[in-house]
Amino acid sequence: MDKKVRVRFAPSPTGGLHLGGVRTALFNYLFAKKNNGTFVLRVEDTDQNRFVEGAEAYIAECLDWCGITPDESPSKPGSYGPYRQSERKPSYRKFAEQLVSDGYAYYAFDTPEDLDAKRKEIPNFQYGQATRMQMRNSLTLTLSEVEDLLNAKIPHVIRIKVPENENVHFNDLIRGDVSFETAIVDDKVLLKADGMPTYHLAVVVDDKAMEITHAFRGEEWLPSAPVHILLWKYLGWEADMPAWAHLPLILKPDGHGKLSKRDGDRLGFPVYAMNWTDPKTGDITNGFKEMGFMPEAFVNMLALLGWNDGTEQEIFTLAELEEKFSIERISKAGAKFDFEKAKWYNHEWIKQSSVDSLQLQVKNELEKAGFVISDEALLNTVIDLIKDRCTLLPDFVMQSSYFFASPSVYDSASVKPKWTAEKATFFHDYANNLSLDNPIDAEVAFKALAEEKGFKPGELMLPFRIMLVGGKFGPGVFDIAVLLGKEETKLRIENAILVFNS
Ligand code: GLU
Repeated sequence: MDKKVRVRFAPSPTGGLHLGGVRTALFNYLFAKKNNGTFVLRVEDTDQNRFVEGAEAYIAECLDWCGITPDESPSKPGSYGPYRQSERKPSYRKFAEQLVSDGYAYYAFDTPEDLDAKRKEIPNFQYGQATRMQMRNSLTLTLSEVEDLLNAKIPHVIRIKVPENENVHFNDLIRGDVSFETAIVDDKVLLKADGMPTYHLAVVVDDKAMEITHAFRGEEWLPSAPVHILLWKYLGWEADMPAWAHLPLILKPDGHGKLSKRDGDRLGFPVYAMNWTDPKTGDITNGFKEMGFMPEAFVNMLALLGWNDGTEQEIFTLAELEEKFSIERISKAGAKFDFEKAKWYNHEWIKQSSVDSLQLQVKNELEKAGFVISDEALLNTVIDLIKDRCTLLPDFVMQSSYFFASPSVYDSASVKPKWTAEKATFFHDYANNLSLDNPIDAEVAFKALAEEKGFKPGELMLPFRIMLVGGKFGPGVFDIAVLLGKEETKLRIENAILVFNS
């Protein structure tokens, strides 16, 4: 019987969550859903120097916002816990020791000063097959010297002994056969002097312990793969090794290199899923959520960075993605990030979303901007009227604020040069005889009055819009007037006449 699919997203809690990280999480999630499997969040926090307070909770929040909540995680443990590597610390040493006694790893006692000296002596120094015999380790020291050092608790690490002249290869589900010459692989540290494993040892031990069947991760981890493959073999676990799938990079908009947070800062778009506040400096890095992206659009956009279903379809719900996702259609080539396209997804999502599903998000935006929304029926009508004009959620504020409060400023410059006493009289008369039962009849009545008074209706429409809205934007002006109602429309006309007369 096939093993039950178990996949993991294994971020290190070091700061904001890059959209590439979210895409890795998403592909793990989709593969799990498609195969009735389990999606695990494992926090890889073994590097205490890079650990950042709050980053783990933030990552969990980002996944929740995207709607790709893990089945097992530190806050929702299943039977494979703990789900934080730091809490699994005691489980790693025995495997490192086992590798040493089997001849696949060795103790290294080099001090930071020794290593620095070597780095100065040998350009591009790598601790590995070419240099290991010049270093202070259990390959160069005698057995009793090693024992003495261990007994004296001299700080040491355990390094993998990468074999010479071997070809390590594996089948990647996206790239096919991938192979590495061991000559270019260095002797990575497996267990650090503080007893913590490095990522390399922990990822293998944990994938085995958590019965992970498929490992999706970014292409940037490909160079580490040979070390992991060797460890699976040396620990005697080859039969349980997960299938690997290294996801294509997300590239800068110009296609030159991996998209970084700095590119976002430079080009003015977010790279993180949600706002991230650096706990040390207090610096805030913007996220897609706060910029006004809908999670559905964000997830949809990410899914299509490196995957498609083989048709022209671009808009997918998460449920559709769960059903259609397939590894075969993930491309090997990097995917260029295009912020305009990201906004296009959001615009499409806003257009196709129901008023009900937008209501809460729009209300939040309006309230954040200081509006008090008491009339939800009005809010719904307004959303329906303007949603096609909104690309990001905050656009709803600009596009709708005038429904909830009179304009505080007017684009007078667009009206005053052609404003006359006759126009003022027209609007007084109009305000006193408003018929606003429905937009079509209201327009007919407005035009009839205009013609009767000798105006081309066109020259009065713009002032009317600016009276109601404050500026040259918004949906049909009679739609707006009908929604505002007679009292409010009249009030706004009178107020604006004063402004334009002054
Ligand atoms: N901890 C690694 C990261 O931060 C995980 C790599 C992997 O999935 O093996 O992305």
